[in-house]
Amino acid sequence: MYFRKQELTPDIMVGIIGAGISGLTLAYRLQENNIPYLLLEENDLTGGYIKTEITNNYTLDIGPNSILADEEITNFFKAIGIENELIEANPNSKDRYIFKAGKYQVLPDSPPKLLKSNFFSFKTKISILTEFFKKTEKIENETLAHFITRRFNKEVTDYVLNPFVTGIYAGNPEKLLVKLTFPILNDLENKYGSVLKGMIKSGGSSRRKSFNFKKGMATLPKAIAEKLKNLQVNTKVEKVEYQNGQFRVSALSNGQILSYNFSQLVIATPAYAASVIMENISPEVAKALSHVEYPPMALVHTIYTKENANVQLNGFGGLNPKIENKFAAGSIWTSSVFSNRVSNDQILLTSFVGGGQYSEQYKSDDRQIKENIIQDFQKDLKIKGKPVMQKVHRWEKAIPQYDKNLQAAYSEIEKLQIKSLYFCAGWYKGVSLSDCIKNASQLAKNISTLKDIHS
Ligand SMILES: Cc1cc2nc3c(=O)[nH]c(=O)nc-3n(C[C@H](O)[C@H](O)[C@H](O)COP(=O)(O)OP(=O)(O)OC[C@H]3O[C@@H](n4cnc5c(N)ncnc54)[C@H](O)[C@@H]3O)c2cc1C
Repeated sequence: MYFRKQELTPDIMVGIIGAGISGLTLAYRLQENNIPYLLLEENDLTGGYIKTEITNNYTLDIGPNSILADEEITNFFKAIGIENELIEANPNSKDRYIFKAGKYQVLPDSPPKLLKSNFFSFKTKISILTEFFKKTEKIENETLAHFITRRFNKEVTDYVLNPFVTGIYAGNPEKLLVKLTFPILNDLENKYGSVLKGMIKSGGSSRRKSFNFKKGMATLPKAIAEKLKNLQVNTKVEKVEYQNGQFRVSALSNGQILSYNFSQLVIATPAYAASVIMENISPEVAKALSHVEYPPMALVHTIYTKENANVQLNGFGGLNPKIENKFAAGSIWTSSVFSNRVSNDQILLTSFVGGGQYSEQYKSDDRQIKENIIQDFQKDLKIKGKPVMQKVHRWEKAIPQYDKNLQAAYSEIEKLQIKSLYFCAGWYKGVSLSDCIKNASQLAKNISTLKDIHS
């Protein structure tokens, strides 16, 4: 696929490198505001990490499996015309299960429920209650594990924080920084003297809904790409130079070297690709970006017939705290969450092997990974019989880690004096799809406002 529909005026337009959800959203928002842009994508398909495999028998998401949406995001779905494609998570799937004391237990979803349940020891319940009165501290570059152990205790870190961080970042809470992941925790402690008091006083956060689409997550990038007038796929940016206020971009497209001049440039690629692009502009930024970690992760889809499996799974999925030494980081019970993923007489589970805490397990070969997952399903979920289909998809570089290396990259970026160069991607200030959409929309607003000032 190669298309470029509009004649563009060079030199006054915004170049965007990378058509994942961030670059696509940015291009769409600029187009809405009549700002000339050109979006360049290396692959023949857009969407980056968002990928769906569809056959007659199943719909498998092999990147992100859902998107959390509030009003801003659902309005975006309407704007790009996919509101009728949405599937909301089944209300029966709201419970999250955590593996503890040899079985999956429901994680209570509010502090009062948590205090009433048997999920935590008495000692931990007291520790949670006394968080209101603990002295506040300001610790530079504090990790999530340190923060939660300091404010609550180690059991909360091990059994709530650890699996929660696995679910979002596939990361290690001993390394991820509070200020980059959940700065709200620092804000609540500083403003109210206690995280819990702050949550109560500020009314907590409104719960967002989890969505997928009838034809899988790839519906989202496809719908945006179809609306764009200036998207060029199969075009890999190889070199960028900055001279006299212009970005000179060289790209390889179907064997041809193409050159462009842009007055503003947005890098919307993963950090490892941004590092190569930045080499001639700032070797310091390029080096810092090359150190951003993306631990590998395998997604494993397992399909059983309901008759064989002989089990009723009602919940979003089961997460495995690292301390429990399980093989996989956890699994989403996909067919309980979203309908139409497999036929009505089947169930689908999506497991995660690897990430920041399970790198050894990732090294197993596909056959071992499949076997270990089946064994754990038999033991822990009482699933009987053999699967009718099982597939391993490996991401050699999966989710960027919001740790001290990323902090160092941000510091180098802040030192850059070039005002017309922007970053907009999952490694830059928000990893989730909804963060990417919101950050790209905000950047488009900023660029549009600047244009108004200059015109
Ligand atoms: C396995 C997995 C599961 C996830 N699950 C969820 C989930 O359930 N929910 C959720 O909200 N988030 C999830 N995420 C996170 C989310 O998918 C990503 O953060 C998000 O998709 C990143 O989008 P992006 O546009 O920033 O970058 P990318 O998706 O990386 O897109 C960047 C694009 O740039 C292109 N590119 C790179 N280099 C060049 C170049 N030199 N020239 C031209 N083009 C280039 C790439 O081909 C790519 O298309 C998951 C991520 C992974 C890996």
